[in-house]
Amino acid sequence: MEKSSSVTEIKGVGEKTCSLLAKLNIHTTGDLLAAYPRDYETYGEFVEIARLSPGSVCAVHAAVSGIPNEKRTGKLHILNVKIADSSGILQLTFYNMPFLKKTLKRGGFYIFRGMVQSRGTARIMEQPKIFSMEEYQNLTGRLIPRYSLTKGLTDHAMQKYMRQALSLCEFEPEYYNRELLEKNQLISEREAVETIHFPDDYDSMIKARKRLVFDEFFTFLFLMRKNKEFSEQLENHYRMPETADAARFLERLPFPLTGAQEKVWMEIKEDLNSPYCMNRLIQGDVGSGKTIVAVLALLTAAANGYQGALMAPTEVLAVQHYETIQGYIQKYGLIFRPVLLVGSMSAKEKKEVYGKIASGEANLVIGTHALIQERVQYSHLALVVTDEQHRFGVRQREHLAEKGNAPHILVMSATPIPRTLAIILYGDLHISVIDELPAERLPIRNCVVNTSWRPNAYKFIIGEVDKGRQVYVICPQVEGDPESESGLSLENVVDYTEKLKGTLPPRIRIAYLHGKMRPADKNRIMEEFAAQTLDVLVSTTVIEVGINVPNATVMMVENAERFGLAQLHQLRGRVGRGEHQSYCIFVSGDEKEDTMERLKILNKSNDGFFIASEDLKLRGPGDLFGIRQSGEFSFRMGDIYTDAPVLKLASDAVEKLLREDPELAKQENAALREHLSAAAANSVDFRSI
Ligand code: ADP
Ligand code: MG
Repeated sequence: MEKSSSVTEIKGVGEKTCSLLAKLNIHTTGDLLAAYPRDYETYGEFVEIARLSPGSVCAVHAAVSGIPNEKRTGKLHILNVKIADSSGILQLTFYNMPFLKKTLKRGGFYIFRGMVQSRGTARIMEQPKIFSMEEYQNLTGRLIPRYSLTKGLTDHAMQKYMRQALSLCEFEPEYYNRELLEKNQLISEREAVETIHFPDDYDSMIKARKRLVFDEFFTFLFLMRKNKEFSEQLENHYRMPETADAARFLERLPFPLTGAQEKVWMEIKEDLNSPYCMNRLIQGDVGSGKTIVAVLALLTAAANGYQGALMAPTEVLAVQHYETIQGYIQKYGLIFRPVLLVGSMSAKEKKEVYGKIASGEANLVIGTHALIQERVQYSHLALVVTDEQHRFGVRQREHLAEKGNAPHILVMSATPIPRTLAIILYGDLHISVIDELPAERLPIRNCVVNTSWRPNAYKFIIGEVDKGRQVYVICPQVEGDPESESGLSLENVVDYTEKLKGTLPPRIRIAYLHGKMRPADKNRIMEEFAAQTLDVLVSTTVIEVGINVPNATVMMVENAERFGLAQLHQLRGRVGRGEHQSYCIFVSGDEKEDTMERLKILNKSNDGFFIASEDLKLRGPGDLFGIRQSGEFSFRMGDIYTDAPVLKLASDAVEKLLREDPELAKQENAALREHLSAAAANSVDFRSI
């Protein structure tokens, strides 16, 4: 079977399963095999009830010691059961499983496995899984894959399909030459894919992971190098001498540029007026002031009679940029004639905007990726700025070039990475770094607490709101899931907002925001928050990128243990952006010592990269899959922090290959050439090689 064959060729995958898999973007057997486990479950030794520690998943071997007790609240059926071993008693709670009342006979011995939680001084387990001794022994000591699923699919079914796909699927012959394989100690792709789904043990899983991560990085870096060759030759068709507009704007701004902003602005000015097209990355930690620099570049384009575009990854962010720039125009009399172009606009509104772009009436276009779609015809687009977003693919670039000559490109990123890594990952761009925060910023005050501290947090929030400040509260989930299998109860935006409305005084205006809302509703809520007609915004991490409301001074993160520290650092960057002292409250729903220790790293430093690397040192091997550090680089498996050593290996291998056989003309690299051509053809980001 080819990797391109439909999943329906797998036994047991009918129409229904096929459509479920399609929801996960799995269409072919190749897609299926590339749906790597999200983590592994290990079934450990039993723990005595007296020794259970809250916050961990444990198995106990115990007897049912009382008569199950059932309750109903609304649609929810609750069954409480007491179990005991020689060391103590534990209460189990099951939701919507009334049939268990008959199964769990008093005196019967079972194995119960689930998350241990504390209720005051007592311990409880919600929704544990139940096993017989034989079933459990079959599972112990192994790594059982767990997949990202959708309703209707189970891990068990996925494992079954995977086994079949593995036995039927043909793999490409080895594409790396022998020297490369040996030097980097890589196992074969086939072995790696088999092992990642069904590892015998931890060490073999790590070896498999290394090969797969190496593959991703190698392909990415190789194609990027080819891109670089392409973009470095692009002639500058839009020479832009400096005009008085930028200087005048800077004079009127209430603050001077920081030294770092000044330096980066110089570099950009030089690019805009050089013989070659600009292709530059501005890297600067959250709050370092990247937007102003982009505005200066866009202003220079407009002053030279050209059009500029500013592209954001989300509508909310695009709308915010639009409003910021409208504000500048009014205050400082800038020469922008801006338009906003986002997906949620009506067809009529869009048409009107298209007209203004095509006629040149608009000299600044702000929006989401909608603004590089076919329909948009520019009259003389000369500069494209992308904010907080993956670099521009070559296809997109070519797409723009088709609308005229290739424009200058400026990419802004807050992904904190040290220079050595940036050079590897952004090898196709020139890099400018804003490594200085505006001077009068007060450092954010942080605290890491457990859920019992909430009343204090709410008191504090009331105080800040009464001073006129605003507050973000972050929850990991959108809606509650009473049937959650894991037994984990994570805070969710919808219920939390209700709870907060009941807890905080009615004068405090509270609303929520999450990714599943309609774009227009999201924009409205964000606008209200920016306009200070809302005091508290309960949100998922949709506000992680770019949002700038300098009046917000408190960031409270619920279930902080569920986020990577780099992500928490990004979230924290939403406050401390103005003149007021700001505060971060990280609430951990997990009382384990090491969780608290990990979160406390955030107290020690404000340097995003330091934080991400410390995080790695502390996290155990089982966490490799759980938490992603970087959102910007969307590798399937590789993470630029966790896998930095492999990234370096792949980078060295690409350099060596390009030195020794740049066109991959040697026989030993023939298979690799074919492999990479196919990869380029499948990628929206790269030019075919
Ligand atoms: P980011 O780099 O995270 O995109 P922004 O560009 O949104 O940061 O800037 C954050 C805030 O800092 C904005 O309110 C902006 O007006 C302000 N700011 C930018 N540069 C300076 C500066 N040199 N001095 C003081 N405040 C500044
Ligand atoms: Mg920004």
